[in-house]
Amino acid sequence: MSLSSASLLTLCFLTPFVFSTSIEWNSNLACQILASKINNRVFFPGGAEYNASVFSYAYVQQQILKPSCIVKPSDSAEVATTLKALRRSPATQFAIRSGGHGTNGGFSNIDSGVTVDMTSIHGVDILEDGITASIGTGALWGDVYAVLDTHNRSLNGGRASGVGIGGFLSGGGIGFFALQYGFGCDAVVNMEVVLSSGDIINANATSNPALFKALKGGQNNFGVVTRWDITTISKGEFWGGSIVYPNSTTAKQLEAFTHWKTPENFDPSSSVEQSHVYIEPLQTFLVSNSIFYTKPREFPLNLKNYTDIQPQISSTLRISNATDFSYEVQSFSTPNQSSIYATTTFRMCPTIIKKVHAIWKAYAEKLPHNATITSSLTLQSIPPPATDPTKLNSLGFDPASTPQKDLVLVLISNFWENPEAGAQVRGSAADFINDVDRIAEEEGVAHKFRYMNYADADFQQPLHTTGQLDDLRKVALEYDAIGMFQRQVTGGWKLYP
Ligand SMILES: Cc1cc2nc3c(=O)[nH]c(=O)nc-3n(C[C@H](O)[C@H](O)[C@H](O)COP(=O)(O)OP(=O)(O)OC[C@H]3O[C@@H](n4cnc5c(N)ncnc54)[C@H](O)[C@@H]3O)c2cc1C
Repeated sequence: MSLSSASLLTLCFLTPFVFSTSIEWNSNLACQILASKINNRVFFPGGAEYNASVFSYAYVQQQILKPSCIVKPSDSAEVATTLKALRRSPATQFAIRSGGHGTNGGFSNIDSGVTVDMTSIHGVDILEDGITASIGTGALWGDVYAVLDTHNRSLNGGRASGVGIGGFLSGGGIGFFALQYGFGCDAVVNMEVVLSSGDIINANATSNPALFKALKGGQNNFGVVTRWDITTISKGEFWGGSIVYPNSTTAKQLEAFTHWKTPENFDPSSSVEQSHVYIEPLQTFLVSNSIFYTKPREFPLNLKNYTDIQPQISSTLRISNATDFSYEVQSFSTPNQSSIYATTTFRMCPTIIKKVHAIWKAYAEKLPHNATITSSLTLQSIPPPATDPTKLNSLGFDPASTPQKDLVLVLISNFWENPEAGAQVRGSAADFINDVDRIAEEEGVAHKFRYMNYADADFQQPLHTTGQLDDLRKVALEYDAIGMFQRQVTGGWKLYP
């Protein structure tokens, strides 16, 4: 039962110290206040809508968190109402969720706090210019491609259909055409943002430009983005898919990747994610290459080194559209398990790929048995930096640099069933990254960049690797002077310490 408005108001004006008896007590009260302000959009434990939200997170470490209530605003005005109410309850902690694919527990869900679930703000429209897509932050990339494909337009969104817009774009975003057009966030021309004051503002190249830049790589530190306006590209069907090969091809795979990553072979039309996979229950190693070409041209020369490798267990190579490809990539993921992502970056050199693979193989073989673990080492490229001064992001790459040619992005992703294996799997992922970094140092190719969307919160700090921290702190002070997004939003990459 809700408290009456009068008694809620009285309670709100009492000092927070009176209510600091427990975090849970505070958030329960905040939930009651929110329920009194936003009709039918606040959901409590035990209800169907609450359960559907909690279980729609991709991985167990977010699904096990149980907020005191979940607010599902249906428009930016309701987001503003929510933030104003939370501002008046400073001891209440809250999480901001878009697609719920973040792999760090507590980044977009929370125990004993309030989860602001943005999935009801999910409209996808092409504006009258026929070029700009206006996307509600709660949409999923599969929904976006489905709309854009009917207009022969596309963009650099997530390659898996289930990934959300908000986390992906605010962390950078690497899509199917990334090596040609840059990070997904670089095509954003405007964001609608709700600040801790409850003000709803637009951030773009001319209005709030510092905030505009900060939100492209600064994630949830400044406000809640409700809508992203993005310049799309003309794009019909293109060629690509995934080839799975037996472990016997590993030496050829490492050579193919090394050849493809040699700077003089760079071709912005092609993209490759080479995954070395260990399936622990079967004690089996495999290799999977997800390869895409930005045009509807089959078997381009630049990707021949991968397509020629035999034997192949399966191949889905074809000409199709982004919607279809994104559902295929999603089907390869293993949701509803425990998972960890961790990442590092190094400069390409002829000898390092084989060494990194050797470290990973030894590491995979030591993973605990009987935990139903799948471990993948994925190697790929980093998109080119934004060069247009009106489109800069906060990822820290100098416009004159060429990361797309020079750098290799490493992702280690582990998924497992047995919760008891968690500590060991997490610890060994950290050991693996440390070993790769040591090898990169020895080879003289170490690089400081850690990609936010792939980083692990227990031992990585991507915001400290971009050289942008001071600027981001200034923007946070200007747009969130009370520090709500630092103190009350406990999940995510924080600006302090
Ligand atoms: C199966 C899978 C495939 C992936 N594929 C790719 C890929 O192809 N390319 C790539 O670059 N990355 C990829 N990723 C990583 C992905 O980009 C990140 O996990 C991203 O954070 C997910 O966004 P989300 O909205 O689903 O996440 P959420 O879990 O909802 O949010 C992640 C973080 O962003 C913050 N946030 C979310 N929405 C907002 C908002 N509106 N305003 C402010 N802050 C917000 C949250 O508070 C949280 O800290 C993949 C991940 C998975 C699990």
